[in-house]
Amino acid sequence: MYAAPGNPGIARIGTCLPVDQAPNLEADLTVVGPEAPLVDGIVDSFRARGLAIVGPTRDAARLEGSKIFAKNFLIQRNIPTAAFLTVEDADAARKALDRFGFPVVLKADGLAAGKGVVIAHDRAAFEAALVTLKAPLLMEEFLRGEEVSFIALCDGRDVVPLPPTQDHKAVFDGDTGPNTGGMGAYCDSAILTEAQTRTILDRIIHPTVEATGFTGFLYAGLMMTAEGPQVLEFNVRLGDPETQPLMHRMASDFVPALQAAAHGELRGVRLDWRPEPSVCVVLASGGYPGAFAAGKPIRGIEAAEASDATVFHAGTRMGPQGIETSGGRVLGVTARGQTLASAIDGAYRAVREIHFDGMHYRRDIGRKGLERYNGKTAGT
Ligand code: AMP
Repeated sequence: MYAAPGNPGIARIGTCLPVDQAPNLEADLTVVGPEAPLVDGIVDSFRARGLAIVGPTRDAARLEGSKIFAKNFLIQRNIPTAAFLTVEDADAARKALDRFGFPVVLKADGLAAGKGVVIAHDRAAFEAALVTLKAPLLMEEFLRGEEVSFIALCDGRDVVPLPPTQDHKAVFDGDTGPNTGGMGAYCDSAILTEAQTRTILDRIIHPTVEATGFTGFLYAGLMMTAEGPQVLEFNVRLGDPETQPLMHRMASDFVPALQAAAHGELRGVRLDWRPEPSVCVVLASGGYPGAFAAGKPIRGIEAAEASDATVFHAGTRMGPQGIETSGGRVLGVTARGQTLASAIDGAYRAVREIHFDGMHYRRDIGRKGLERYNGKTAGT
């Protein structure tokens, strides 16, 4: 197994090489992680060379690459999503404000690593967003409900759904502060009822795959509103940090399913999952999602993994004194438990073993799930 570019985490189980060398490997199977190469058409170019690859074509990747394309697609196909308008500049946005009122959601069109979205609760926040976000913009109705990430492996026709997960996008506890790429996630089959899963497949996933011939991982970021699930966004790859708790629960060998997806043979394939919920807590660099310093030595990864926890690496690199920070989101500390509460405890027990200068993390990952058990539900 090779990873390009990889990091010191994956280097424990595979060989890392520079990204530009990946096409020359002629691997039996390639799985694409990030969105940028998908949007640039890596799947088209690998397929043209007869190489098996898991991911969407450049055309299908526009579902993530352009929010305006995705919204128009959803409306045309009658797939549930928030009402919206496209505005070309700040003046047009101000004129459209009456249609929405506050809070209103503003989104930049292109890829923004989860940070091109502002929820403006008042005029001042709205004006500030018009300065920071690059036009053209989407203005969207603000939806209320619980967010769920729903990911399905697709082969252009058939789909294998993965269990539901819930991300925590805001940087601080209680969903406060600016949005990030994700500060933690948990995976628990109880997030959705069977009926909700059916609705998501019938109303959202299948129509999208049918219309686009989607191959690879289709990730629907959903709001479970009182009127049912609505699409907030599509991603065209496995999500981070949802993938960490998903992998921790996966009981099957993933490779045959990935091979089947690359060859259009997913029909009848199933993935098995451990019943226990899992939780991933992201450890971030001081200052993230704003400016942060890299190169901070990291201690305690081995101690954290002495229990059943897995420490997934994100922004790490090998420095003169060992592993050090190299990005905003540094590590995803992930554990399972008999109950969601014990999975949360296990993840935070492992987190407490790890130290680097400026490290910060949310203390409430998974709490929304606990509240669900205490009587609150994720809409209908
Ligand atoms: P997106 O990148 O489009 O998923 O937006 C990032 C985050 O902004 C989402 O995960 C939600 O928390 C929030 N968000 C986006 N669109 C809406 C909306 N229409 N109503 C409420 N919250 C939203």
